[in-house]
Amino acid sequence: MRDCLRLLQPLIDTASRRFRTGRQFRHMTPTLFEALPLAAPLQRVLRELNYQTPSPVQAQAIPLLLEGRDLLGCAQTGTGKTASFALPILHAIHERPKQIKPRQCRTLVLAPTRELAGQVGKSFTTYGAHVRFRQTLIYGGVGQNPQVSAMRGGVDVLVATPGRLLDLIEQRAVDLSGVEFFVLDEVDRMLDMGFARDVKKIVALLPSNRQSLFFSATLAPTIVELAQTILRNPARVSIDPGTTTAERIEHQVCFVDRENKRPLLEQLLRGQASATSGKLTIVFSRTKHGANKLAKSLCEAGFPADAIHGNKSQAQREKALEKFKKGLTPVLVATDVAARGVDVKDVGLVVNFDLPNEPEAYVHRIGRTGRAGAEGRAVSFCAEDEREFLREIEKVIKMAVPRWDDHAWHDESLADRHLRMRTGGGMVQGGGNRGGNRGGGGNRGGGGGGRGAEGRDYSNAGRGNNRRRQASR
Ligand code: AMP
Repeated sequence: MRDCLRLLQPLIDTASRRFRTGRQFRHMTPTLFEALPLAAPLQRVLRELNYQTPSPVQAQAIPLLLEGRDLLGCAQTGTGKTASFALPILHAIHERPKQIKPRQCRTLVLAPTRELAGQVGKSFTTYGAHVRFRQTLIYGGVGQNPQVSAMRGGVDVLVATPGRLLDLIEQRAVDLSGVEFFVLDEVDRMLDMGFARDVKKIVALLPSNRQSLFFSATLAPTIVELAQTILRNPARVSIDPGTTTAERIEHQVCFVDRENKRPLLEQLLRGQASATSGKLTIVFSRTKHGANKLAKSLCEAGFPADAIHGNKSQAQREKALEKFKKGLTPVLVATDVAARGVDVKDVGLVVNFDLPNEPEAYVHRIGRTGRAGAEGRAVSFCAEDEREFLREIEKVIKMAVPRWDDHAWHDESLADRHLRMRTGGGMVQGGGNRGGNRGGGGNRGGGGGGRGAEGRDYSNAGRGNNRRRQASR
């Protein structure tokens, strides 16, 4: 490990210098994975996955984590964030194997939802394919007995949601006193979902001698405050969620009467089916009831659809997701909470049937498509009573969502009212584009190297930001 760090020292020094001088990492020349001192079993899996270039968050975080630093990361799903923490943790597990005591875990990853926990667990399995380690998942909505028995022998990696974890701690089925690596994932969601107290209770049970990692898509003051109570002298990495997502994805807004949303959705789905066969669509609804109703009416109109939301059991959600992934029901109607952590490749279209009332959710939602550098399209429907939500979203992403009005239900007077309400505020105007528009600098493909098996290309990440910043001056 020490040898590895010696080799890496120049990279770490440059990284630390950039942090100290406040310069942005994203302009760093991307390193190849093979230049990072990750253990041989991890290099092997990266070759097998055909990951060559670390994503910006990986390029920033991995060297710091290998150095043992605590980390405050501002990055959302779809940026390669999971590998940025899973790889260094698996590296440490491989380099320093350890007998784990019963009911203990060496690594604790806390995630807000069971879907996200499942996703993170799956990533550890993938990246750790050639590492000897044990892991398990703990989440609610399913029987606890298998989880209790899985913890009996102790595990290297435990991925858990807060509520069930606390239940099992109270029952003395889990003991956190052996945690060396603690990861809090998607903290903004965790707080939105009311887990602040649970998180604090869990943190109080952790040993003080640990390495802590804290990831959030946004860094609002309450989040930074919580981070300060958990992290020691953390390094900060930041992948601006608003701009990176908005740039990669072709996103548009349709001004439409509420009752015309359904026919407009059907038109979009017809276009999606004929233009990009095999591509999947996620439709966001604000309420559980709305999601059910919409999925039912889409089925009746001949579009195989299913709904996932908080009232569905874990088994129902998993079944719906499986059918969606296989393309058997290519339309998934979801609420925000249920869609969290859903990492399905081939989502070509996201439709915000209802606009989210929290602007950050917009970025999360449209991030369901365009995963890890792939291209995607997101269309939002804005009715009269949603103009205020759109205004908030545009403030957060610092640009006007381009208009798509080339459809039979376009409401020009609504569009005009929104335009008048919108304050200047440095937004990049994207209005009135009939064929749609890409948010940023047209950062598609090109640019030498780092394209992964599924055509992801991280080597260009960030350049579009730069261009857009210049454009908006
Ligand atoms: P995450 O942000 O961790 O949810 O990752 C999003 C997707 O990107 C996952 O499907 C990963 O398999 C993929 N991915 C992560 N890192 C890389 C990389 N360096 N190159 C190519 N694909 C990646």
